[in-house]
Amino acid sequence: MAGTMRMRIQMLPILGLLLLGTLPGPNALRANDDADAEVTLALVGGWLIDGNTPLPFENPVILIAGERIKTVGRLGRVRIPPGANVIDAQGRFILPGLIDAHAHLEGLGLGERDADFTDTPEKLRHAILQNARLNLLSGVTSLRDCGSSELVLKLRDQIEAEGPRLFAAGPQLVKREATASASPLFLEFDGVKEARRKVREQIAKGIDFVKVRLTRQRPLPTLEELSAIVSEAHRAGLRVAVHIDVPYDEAVRLALMAGVDTIEHMAPLRAHDDRLFLEMARHNIVVVPTLYQLQAQRVNPMEKNDEELIEPPLQTRLPPEIRHALTQRAALWRRLALEWRARGYDPKRALREAFRTLTRARLLGVKIALGPDTGSDLVPHGQFYKELVLYANMGIPPIEVIQMATRMGAEALGREKELGTIEPGKLADIILVEGDPLLDPEALRNVVLVIKGGQVIEVPRPEAKSR
Ligand SMILES: [Zn+2]
Repeated sequence: MAGTMRMRIQMLPILGLLLLGTLPGPNALRANDDADAEVTLALVGGWLIDGNTPLPFENPVILIAGERIKTVGRLGRVRIPPGANVIDAQGRFILPGLIDAHAHLEGLGLGERDADFTDTPEKLRHAILQNARLNLLSGVTSLRDCGSSELVLKLRDQIEAEGPRLFAAGPQLVKREATASASPLFLEFDGVKEARRKVREQIAKGIDFVKVRLTRQRPLPTLEELSAIVSEAHRAGLRVAVHIDVPYDEAVRLALMAGVDTIEHMAPLRAHDDRLFLEMARHNIVVVPTLYQLQAQRVNPMEKNDEELIEPPLQTRLPPEIRHALTQRAALWRRLALEWRARGYDPKRALREAFRTLTRARLLGVKIALGPDTGSDLVPHGQFYKELVLYANMGIPPIEVIQMATRMGAEALGREKELGTIEPGKLADIILVEGDPLLDPEALRNVVLVIKGGQVIEVPRPEAKSR
């Protein structure tokens, strides 16, 4: 008797897992008695990775009404209204649209040489819209711009027409430093009053979240200043992201005490005190470690030749002059890497260490979202999948990596009720991928169809081999 009980209890989680993985959730099985006429689009067949469940399920039917997902169910159990535009997803994987949680639309991946292509407002506008398009074609349906000039805010409608949904911080808040030169990318404050006023000015200009920099180049803000920024932003319903490049527990502790929502870059993963991870978890803070940047700048130039640095499909989408400039940039990093290597620095070791602490942080409950600092040096727009591939290669199960790049991205944005998973009621941001991203994460580069808010965007694939 007792033995049977124990066995039943042990079986429960396994049974639950099987049910989760193979059956649609309760919402999906709800009788679908609304008017058929609402349904505009039906995705049928293939495999669904919905962003929530730990296993994909086969032969789904996803009904979309206007910009939202109406039903998620299984082939044979969901009636497909006759008026719907049917997309056959057989042999493909269906995923939530990807969310790049750390990008800069004004950057082309050329570091200070970006200026060669962005030194007039017209050229900068062109670069921003080109980047927006490259993102959408690569499956990024939401992009969190973590710092730009005001131009990105002004171009919002065009960016969203050409590319992903935009969540932008505009110019970043920094503590005033007499010796630092002014930049349209930064907004200086000194003292609580000015900090509050700068946040209000930013909000009036249409930002979606506030970005503050805690950096070695400037003094740290006081707790009062940072707390004032957070309370002013939260009062308006906006979240606060902090950039930390000082790998010291001090900056992380300050950010935690002030009540920020996300921490950017690797610094939080370098915290020595495990209690900081527990605090991050307790406060529901999302960390965006921007790790692919390290691989792109310090590993790839050493291991890849110019032709391999930018892979298809981006290779054919980038204008040749940008491709050329990227290879020149890589040559510069290659020289730097050789110097560092001579002095004993091993970038792969740095990556392994980053992933070791990342794993410890995750085990302690810290949420991780993905964003490779797209637009920064050697990280051009349009290959967000590289960040996912890196995480999978470093030992994180691909299905969890996909959740970091979708559901966790939505949490970083504070938009988890609307975005990040494929569920009834959410916005219909969905991608179709050729190949199995669970067996081979590189398949994520083969995005063949993008749906954003129920609108279908065909992805041209000039590089596809003829059969
Ligand atoms: Zn950044």
